[in-house]
Amino acid sequence: MIPVQFDYLAPTSVEEALAALGQHGDDAKILAGGQSLLPVLRMRLNAPEVVIDLGGISSLRGIRDDGDALVIGAMTTHHDVRDDSLVKEHALLLSKAAAEVADAQIRHRGTFGGALAHADPAGDLGAPALALGAQFVIAGPGGTRTVDAADFFVDLFETAIGDDEILTEVRIPKHTGWGAHYEKFVRVAHQWPIVAVAATVKGSIDEARVGLTNMGSTPLRATATERALAGASATEDGVREASQLAAEGTNPPSDLNGAADYRQHLARVLTGRAVLKAAGV
Ligand SMILES: Cc1cc2nc3c(=O)[nH]c(=O)nc-3n(C[C@H](O)[C@H](O)[C@H](O)COP(=O)(O)OP(=O)(O)OC[C@H]3O[C@@H](n4cnc5c(N)ncnc54)[C@H](O)[C@@H]3O)c2cc1C
Repeated sequence: MIPVQFDYLAPTSVEEALAALGQHGDDAKILAGGQSLLPVLRMRLNAPEVVIDLGGISSLRGIRDDGDALVIGAMTTHHDVRDDSLVKEHALLLSKAAAEVADAQIRHRGTFGGALAHADPAGDLGAPALALGAQFVIAGPGGTRTVDAADFFVDLFETAIGDDEILTEVRIPKHTGWGAHYEKFVRVAHQWPIVAVAATVKGSIDEARVGLTNMGSTPLRATATERALAGASATEDGVREASQLAAEGTNPPSDLNGAADYRQHLARVLTGRAVLKAAGV
């Protein structure tokens, strides 16, 4: 289907984009890589009068070292996040998860910020961002504010970004030297996960962070498993026992891909696999 006709704006600065958002309000929609928005427009599930393309704002692209954190521009593609040497060194979990997003074509067009702003509970980047304690930098008419990952994901396809705001960058605290693995369970290759687990561990195991994809309306942390793993030795039995707690506090959907209790079973099994691989066992 062809989308409803809209005006197309291509600002070259964040200020210009914010001014356009302010002018057009609810009638406007931000365009990043278009990999989620364009299908929505083509199915006529949304019909904005104005589309504001962030593609011409070069300051929103790229990855830089900022002391204790890496800063990833919102318009950085999944491909660039996956291959970046700073990400591999300081936030390996993100590189591994970005490698699992869709296929090569989508990874070259889709953006880190677009995926996180879209907040699909089955999206592959929310759980790793949450597990790594990401901070989201959001620009609006009143200036810039920073939101912790725990407060950023509000509900299904809903984040803390206001209608008149733009996600500009994401700060990822460095996890240098931590092992990492993203374990994704799919029925069809190159698709969204039925359930996935993002695990990153320090040592063997001093500290663990575990994020769950598609186990509720937002990405979740498997905090009971994280507590059980802290200070535990990375034996197969010990990790599998701690992983039995992974579904605590989750509220996964039931749909054609699986019932809620099946997803909870998957979360326990996949957590065991992800943590063992992250710990190199
Ligand atoms: C066939 C297919 C398979 C896919 N498989 C997967 C998969 O396996 N795993 C996965 O994680 N994803 C998957 N995706 C989605 C993909 O990752 C998209 O790249 C991502 O969801 C959206 O990023 P985008 O840059 O394309 O954003 P867009 O589609 O341009 O925008 C998405 C939404 O976010 C808003 N937005 C974008 N950027 C900003 C910003 N900076 N500030 C405020 N709002 C913003 C837009 O207004 C829009 O509402 C798939 C997509 C397709 C088409």
